[in-house]
Amino acid sequence: MDKKKNTNMEVKKRNRNEVFRYICRNGMVSNPDISYALKLSLPTTTQITKELIERGLVEEMGEMESTGGRRAKALAVSEDVGKAAGLDITKNHISMVLTELTGKISKYERIFLPFTAGDDYYLEVSRKLEYFLESSGCGKENILGIGISFPGIMDLEQEIVADSHILGVSALPFSSVSRFFPCPCYFLNDANAGAYAEGIQSEHMERFFYLSLSNTVGGAVYSDGKLEQGKNFRCGEAGHMTLVPDGKICYCGKQGCLDAYCSAKCLTEGRVEEFFERLKQGEEEAAGLWEKYTSYLAVAVNNIHMILDCDVVLGGYVGSCMGEFIRDIRDKVFQRNTFAEDSSFIRASRHKIGAAALGASLNVIELFMEQV
Ligand SMILES: [Zn+2]
Repeated sequence: MDKKKNTNMEVKKRNRNEVFRYICRNGMVSNPDISYALKLSLPTTTQITKELIERGLVEEMGEMESTGGRRAKALAVSEDVGKAAGLDITKNHISMVLTELTGKISKYERIFLPFTAGDDYYLEVSRKLEYFLESSGCGKENILGIGISFPGIMDLEQEIVADSHILGVSALPFSSVSRFFPCPCYFLNDANAGAYAEGIQSEHMERFFYLSLSNTVGGAVYSDGKLEQGKNFRCGEAGHMTLVPDGKICYCGKQGCLDAYCSAKCLTEGRVEEFFERLKQGEEEAAGLWEKYTSYLAVAVNNIHMILDCDVVLGGYVGSCMGEFIRDIRDKVFQRNTFAEDSSFIRASRHKIGAAALGASLNVIELFMEQV
């Protein structure tokens, strides 16, 4: 095929992807809406949506409300196309999510299921997921794929979990997990999955650092619609930056890692929501723990911001529950920051529940959209 023909096909595919993505994200839209938003001519837009309708990906849903003149046809993504499942595996729990092509969560559930290395565990997870999907009225034939978020270094080239200190697993092939599931599986590191959920649904595909503060601490760099992976797929592994030389022992075996000072476990062994409730009520012990916690966290956030010069999003259990208490971190970072700027670059994750499971499912949706 000659070069020109090739380029034309690429442009056509890119336009088709963009139109489909726009319809998925915006619910009910018309050809003129799409044409205006994506700066495509109306005939081109109409041609693309006609093709998407013929392929059963998009449906006509009556007419849009009149804005004067002829009413435009209302278009929406067909429900028959399917949904994506997301699964977040952690040391003691699994979270499951069912996500529509629009990005909306249909169902979410988190259950206690301690990790064990072996087939029995994955078999049980697969059963739980199947039950979860069935009870949502969604058969496996309606699932585009399963996004799996895993707390470890994911080598996407060799397709293995290179290392997960927290689960005690290394060189685990993705295929030894995916074979237990009835649909194609797509793997992501947990902090990457959280960052993906944060970034892909934002209006502007800006660059930011996502710091996941759960029972372990992780991080990810999101940039321009993509996750930066790094040479060894460890980009953003902030949990094991040295915060205190020769400090507390970290679960990774080294001393003084950020994780040893800023995991959710440093605040409470119980539910993080309850910790913040105690803090709100002015409980002294909680206030003391928070004071210490934020002092360490401020060092890490200031360092990350100094290197990358971008927003820092606080996610994980702590980030999503801290609410108004984010001001304590902003104040402490402000004191450390060499440059005179306010600390509004520090913000809390927009997702209050299941960010990693959601991000893993959104990754499946995005991969599907790219193929349309
Ligand atoms: Zn460590």
